[in-house]
Amino acid sequence: MSDSQAKDAGSKQSMSVQERLRSLPSVTQILAASQLTGVGEEVGHDELRRLTQLSIAAARAGQLGATDGSESVELLDQCVSRVKQLFVAERRQSLGHVINATGVLLHTNLGRAPLADKARERMSRASGYCNVELDLQDGKRSPRGERTTQLLARLTGAEAALVVNNCAAATMLTLAALSRDRETIISRSQLVEIGGGFRLPEVFEASGAMLREVGTTNRTYARDYARALGEETGAILKVHRSNFSLDGFVAEPAIGELVELNASNDIAVVDDVGSGCLHDLSSLGLNEPNVIESVKAGADLVLFSGDKLFGGPQAGIVVGKQRWISQLSQHPMMRAMRVDKCTLAGLEATCEIHLAKRHPTEMPLYEMMVRTAEDVRMRCETLVARLSPSSAFDIRIVSQQSPIGGGTLPGFTLPSFALQIATRHPKDLSKLADLLRTGEPAVLGRVSDGHLLLDLRSVLDAEFEGLEDCLAEAFAGVSLLGEAL
Ligand SMILES: *Cc1c(COP(=O)(O)O)cnc(C)c1O
Repeated sequence: MSDSQAKDAGSKQSMSVQERLRSLPSVTQILAASQLTGVGEEVGHDELRRLTQLSIAAARAGQLGATDGSESVELLDQCVSRVKQLFVAERRQSLGHVINATGVLLHTNLGRAPLADKARERMSRASGYCNVELDLQDGKRSPRGERTTQLLARLTGAEAALVVNNCAAATMLTLAALSRDRETIISRSQLVEIGGGFRLPEVFEASGAMLREVGTTNRTYARDYARALGEETGAILKVHRSNFSLDGFVAEPAIGELVELNASNDIAVVDDVGSGCLHDLSSLGLNEPNVIESVKAGADLVLFSGDKLFGGPQAGIVVGKQRWISQLSQHPMMRAMRVDKCTLAGLEATCEIHLAKRHPTEMPLYEMMVRTAEDVRMRCETLVARLSPSSAFDIRIVSQQSPIGGGTLPGFTLPSFALQIATRHPKDLSKLADLLRTGEPAVLGRVSDGHLLLDLRSVLDAEFEGLEDCLAEAFAGVSLLGEAL
C-alpha cells in the first residue's frame, strides 16, 4: 500500500455514519449511467428503477456494516454493476433449455416428458388464434378440443374422453362429480402421498368425497369392497401405487374383479393408473398398469397423467364410459380445470404418434427408453474422445442403473452408462457442477461420492454437440478460476 492509499484508508475509517450514507448515489445518478441504457431498453423504466433501488439498499447495508465506508464515485460504480448483476441473475431464472444428464427420463423438476417435435410444432401452431371451439366445416361452435378427445377415446378403446390440468385434477373432478358427500371406497394400501408433500387422500377429500377405507396395508380382497358397498357409495376407486412398491404377503383385487362387484352398474369403478402406459413395455422389464387393459377390463373411468409415460404435455386425462364422462364434463369444476388450446394441440399430436405406433422413433421419451446400454456406452466414448480436458480432470465411463421416473415407477431402472468426472481439487468439482448448471444451455448431472456423473441415457441426440461445448467451456472455466486463486 502506498502512503497516499494508506492515508485514504485512514480518512475512510474516520467517516461518520452520516457521511457514509451521504456518499450513496441517488436513483437519478444511477439511472443516468450509460452502461445501463441497454438494460433499461430491455426491462423498461419501472423495472430498472426497482433494480436501482435494490442496488442502493445493498450499498447502504454495506456502508453501515463495513468498518470503513466507500467514496461516492466507488459507490456509484458498485451500484451500476449491481443493477447489471441483478438483471442477469433474474434472466437466468427464466424457463430455459436444460440438458438432462441425470439419467432420470421423467424428471419432475425438469418438466417430466420432453415432447415430440410434432407436438411442439402443433402447440406453436395453436398458440395464435385457432379453432379450439369451432368447427371450420360448418362454422358453428364445437366442443373444446373435440378432435383431441376423440383421438384419446380411439387410442384407448374407450367410449369418450376429457382433459383437465393434471391427474390430481382428474381425480378431484371425478370424485366431486360422482361422490360428493358420499363414500368413495378405497383400499388402505393405496392411500398414497405424491410429490411435493401432497397426499392423494387429502386431494380426494377436498373434492367433498368421504373416504371409506377397506382392507389392510398389505392385503385387501374383493369381499372387503363388497362389504362396504351400500346406499352411501359414490364410487369405487383404485389408485396405482406409483412411487413405492409393496412386496411379500400382499393381495389386491384386479380392476376386473371390482367391475364384477358392481353388477348393477350404477356406481362408477374408477382406476387411477397414474403413468398412462399404452404399450407393452415388458421387453424393457417394465410392468405398469396399461390404460387400454383397464378400459377392456370394464373400468368405468380410467385416469392418467399426460406427461408421464404418455409422453405429452402436462394434463390429466380421463377416458371411459360416455355416461360418466358426460357427468364430469357438465360439472362446474370442469370449467375451472379446462386446459388451454396449446395443451390440446400437443396431446392431439401425441395421440397421433401413439396411434401410428411411431412412439419409439418420434417420441424422445421412448427413443431414450429403448436405447440399449451399449448404445449409451458408445455415446459416452464418443464424447470422451472429443473432449480434451486438462490433467486436472479425470474422466471415466462407468455403468449405472437409471430410474425412469423421479417419484414414478418405483424400483425400476434401466442399465445405462455415465461419464464419471473427478477433479484433482475437491473444491473444483462443485465449481464444475455450478458452471454447467448455470451455463447456456444448462447441464444438470448428479454429484455423488466426490464425482460428477453425467448419464447419457437422458441426453437427446440433438443435444449431444451442445453438451460437448458446455463441458469444454466448463472445464476451461474451472481451470481459469483455479489459476486466479
Ligand atoms: C402421478 C400420479 C398422480 C398425479 O398426477 P399429476 O398429473 O402429477 O397430477 C395421481 N395419481 C397417480 C396414481 C399418479 O401416479
